[in-house]
Amino acid sequence: MASLNDNYLKLKAGYLFPEIGRRVKAFNDANPAAAARLIRCGIGDVTEPLPAAVVAALHKAVDEMAVRSTFKGYGPEQGYEWLRAAIAENDFRAHGLDVADDEIFVSDGSKCDCGAILDIMGASNRLAITDPVYPVYVDTNVMAGHTGEADATGAYAGITYLPCTAQNGFIPEPPKEHVDVIYLCSPNNPTGATASRAQLEAWVKYALANRSIILFDAAYEAYISDPTIPHSIYEIPGARECAIEFRSFSKNGGFTGVRCAFTVVPKTLLASTASGEFKPLHPLWSRRMTTKFNGVSYLVQRAAEALYSPEGKAQVAALVEHYMGNAKILVAGAKAAGHRVFGGVNAPYIWVDAPKGHTSWQAFDRILNESNVVITPGSGFGSNGEGWFRVSGFNSRANAEEVSRRLQALNW
Ligand SMILES: *Cc1c(COP(=O)(O)O)cnc(C)c1O
Repeated sequence: MASLNDNYLKLKAGYLFPEIGRRVKAFNDANPAAAARLIRCGIGDVTEPLPAAVVAALHKAVDEMAVRSTFKGYGPEQGYEWLRAAIAENDFRAHGLDVADDEIFVSDGSKCDCGAILDIMGASNRLAITDPVYPVYVDTNVMAGHTGEADATGAYAGITYLPCTAQNGFIPEPPKEHVDVIYLCSPNNPTGATASRAQLEAWVKYALANRSIILFDAAYEAYISDPTIPHSIYEIPGARECAIEFRSFSKNGGFTGVRCAFTVVPKTLLASTASGEFKPLHPLWSRRMTTKFNGVSYLVQRAAEALYSPEGKAQVAALVEHYMGNAKILVAGAKAAGHRVFGGVNAPYIWVDAPKGHTSWQAFDRILNESNVVITPGSGFGSNGEGWFRVSGFNSRANAEEVSRRLQALNW
């Protein structure tokens, strides 16, 4: 008798995006005339085409693959050396951060890496996860059996939830209790909040004192405009002893459909064995990648490398400027409409307070029916998201301007 992984049965139904889809479809079916007016600011996906430097690199790589003498088969599982060097040099060493080429592991996405990292972590770690949160961190731990069951409120045993509220600016302080593994995402999806240097210093201090590990998701670092906000956890002294960093080309280079990301595992990062001995995680991650992964395609790695060329860098900056221009317009519109707004300054998401008396889903329904705009209900990211909604800056300029107008026209 084959058995299944019972942990999957602990998962709450994937509710948020299917439910948004269901409500949007019902609206479109009932209002065929208004359907054409519908603007989607819901899912966090980029909208603009690939940078020209990337397109050129892809074409060139395809031509190489078409010729026997330059054809490439399997590459190194951890990524080609030239890409790992370009990443370590441009994203870290150029900023004075000590990261070696072989501490970079190239992958097909940060979402995958956030789940895969659990392969090398113990099963009984106490987890700290923010609320609201990017749902992947929670669900991958449930699947791996690193949590208990969910209670009536949907909270899983084994997770310390870190409330993110307007009071703490949506950046939590370290807990009073001990935790082993901490998930931090800055700039944040969904709230658009960013952790200051002092806040990250407090987390690194906590992690070093507790011998915990910080899993730092920096997928949106390219959107930081405030020069005082760290782009990498390794800007904080001591982080090489307590943190793994996830980065992705999805949001800076528009690679959500191309698929390329990387994870930084410092060789100085240790964790405890079952018998209490401290050993480095780097060889485990290397072993995990070489065993379970066969590398990102040569074409895609050449495309990622092109993001570090002078033209590539300028084109990424232009993309970020485009989306952040949208975010600015959306922030201004939501504020003019009387909402309290967070985010949208160092992140492409704006996090908006629904008017009094409205839950996140009630706000969603009114904005859909009256403004014909799709947003994301904050409650879908955790109980502290209740009463908030997320608006994405990933859109055309015309759509962002129109959404801004419609938010102001809505008579709550
Ligand atoms: C978009 C996003 C990522 C990137 O995921 P990929 O799999 O690399 O596309 C990572 N973390 C968060 C929080 C995100 O929103």
